[in-house]
Amino acid sequence: MKFSWRILLLWTIPALVIGFFLWQGAFSPAVGDLSQNTASTRMNYGRFLDYIEKGRVTSVDLYDGGQTAIVEATDPDLNKTNRWRVDLPANSPELITKLREADIDLDTHPARQDGAIWGILGNLIFPILLIGGLFFLFRRSSNMGGGPGQAMNFGKSRARFQMEAKTGILFDDVAGIQEAKEELQEVVTFLKQPERFTAVGARIPKGVLLVGPPGTGKTLLAKAIAGEAGVPFFSISGSEFVEMFVGVGASRVRDLFKKAKENAPCLIFIDEIDAVGRQRGAGIGGGNDEREQTLNQLLTEMDGFEGNTGIIIIAATNRPDVLDSALLRPGRFDRQVIVDAPDLKGRIGILEVHARNKKLASEISIEAIARRTPGFTGADLANLLNEAAILTARRRKEAITMLEINDAVDRVVAGMEGTPLVDSKSKRLIAYHEVGHAIVGTVLKDHDQVQKVTLIPRGQAQGLTWFTPSEEQGLITRAQLKARITGALGGRAAEEEIFGHSEVTTGAGGDLQQVTGMARQMVTRFGMSDLGPLSLESQQGEVFLGGGLTNRAEYSEEVASRIDEQVRRIVEHCHDDAKRIMRENRVVIDRLVDLLIERETIDGEEFRQIVAEYTHVPEKEQYVPVL
Ligand code: ADP
Ligand code: MG
Ligand code: ZN
Repeated sequence: MKFSWRILLLWTIPALVIGFFLWQGAFSPAVGDLSQNTASTRMNYGRFLDYIEKGRVTSVDLYDGGQTAIVEATDPDLNKTNRWRVDLPANSPELITKLREADIDLDTHPARQDGAIWGILGNLIFPILLIGGLFFLFRRSSNMGGGPGQAMNFGKSRARFQMEAKTGILFDDVAGIQEAKEELQEVVTFLKQPERFTAVGARIPKGVLLVGPPGTGKTLLAKAIAGEAGVPFFSISGSEFVEMFVGVGASRVRDLFKKAKENAPCLIFIDEIDAVGRQRGAGIGGGNDEREQTLNQLLTEMDGFEGNTGIIIIAATNRPDVLDSALLRPGRFDRQVIVDAPDLKGRIGILEVHARNKKLASEISIEAIARRTPGFTGADLANLLNEAAILTARRRKEAITMLEINDAVDRVVAGMEGTPLVDSKSKRLIAYHEVGHAIVGTVLKDHDQVQKVTLIPRGQAQGLTWFTPSEEQGLITRAQLKARITGALGGRAAEEEIFGHSEVTTGAGGDLQQVTGMARQMVTRFGMSDLGPLSLESQQGEVFLGGGLTNRAEYSEEVASRIDEQVRRIVEHCHDDAKRIMRENRVVIDRLVDLLIERETIDGEEFRQIVAEYTHVPEKEQYVPVL
């Protein structure tokens, strides 16, 4: 320990003494704060005025009660910004007016009240800091009994994990993921009464992996476990482990576990564990040393503590498939809990949780909102209610009504509303395009119900046709897939039939992408083509995420060209169908387009009524009431 003392002193005293002189230098001149400003050259007042006139000045900082200015301006010779110091004439209010008029960034810095007192204080602060610093260093080295290495520990000084002594979140605040909650109820008991398990010789699990898409409440769930058990919550994100410098991540892992052990029983939450836990040696461009070291350290730490230390590690990911198998071995993250997007009942529960602190009009039915939002995650629903509340406040209403909810759904799904186009040829074309989608959706029995058609732009889209998806689309039939492909081609088909081949637009790009994707999956994944019931490709994984290279499709060139042919056949067939529907319904399409241009939006019910005057509109099986 004596040794370490000497090292510390040798290192610190010269540095501090030099610091002393620097400090003194900074405090002594009469200019005060100005000296901290790095304006090296002077500019005379006349040139300054000239620069203002030419619009070269970007900002002016006034010091010493307006006697001195630090001016930032573009240097005409060098064509870059520079800073100058300008002595100003006493009392020049015209200057301020001039600066204001030229819209120049202006700031004043008050002169120091009493230079002498500050000077003395400045002189005193330094010795105090010196003594305090030495005291601190001494305490550190004596507490830890460490060698000189302690003073140089980078990872330690930049700990990135957060600790919450009390999360304040309970299971009541988490809704819609009942199974996951029940599974994790047990973890709460582990943390609260470990004796119950150790008494009968049960090994308490160390790690639980929460698997699910973003926004489904994984973080919230982990916090709720800590909250229910009343233990501290340590959290870090996987991406924060991975740094430029080799070894920093590993040392962060070490720190995290050290702190956690000091605070046991507690819960460690590692978000986005796939950022560190990816299969080692996978990915393009060779392994990443830093990441592997971090992962190894994590594995070592997890093995290093006995099951009954009262630390439970919960990790979250949406890519369990890319995780290193060593992470999933018994004794590590051997429990996996799926946290999926909520179903109708779940959405009702989540909406109820988030409606607690909102003012809803009495007419609002939570169930109706839940019905309108299949596929929404917990985070989407929370966001939806918040958007609705913001709209309500903006419209100066007392409580949230269904109108705000509907607007908020549109906004969450499709982005911000834009301004409608003025009547023009392109507006007409967009109207035909959208009506094309909607008419296919209306006359095909297997297509989702049209909810509304609108020409009000939103996000990237110029016009939109909304469909009410059937609740919980678990299994999709071949007929439904084909209807969807036909519907997606409806926009382009309308453009072609009405405006002709050469007038079709780029607007269908997104539709075509969807079409090709669906058709290809029908052939290669779902065995819905003449190639027969073969799975030729697994889900298209991104190569960059590691492990992607191995599940590439393995088929011959010949099969590849047959796949292409089948895809083309499906698309062509649906395209012909879509064009036929356009021709057969030309009269009603023209009428609907006129109405749409006039009104901007037609809702699904009215749309169907109009179409029914001309042709048969099939009843749809999964009719979900449109709100
Ligand atoms: P994840 O970690 O899975 O990406 P979060 O836990 O960060 O998702 O969820 C973000 C927010 O969404 C939460 O803070 C909460 O307000 C809301 N939320 C998500 N899922 C639920 C749920 N199941 N119940 C209640 N609120 C939820
Ligand atoms: Mg999260
Ligand atoms: Zn389209």
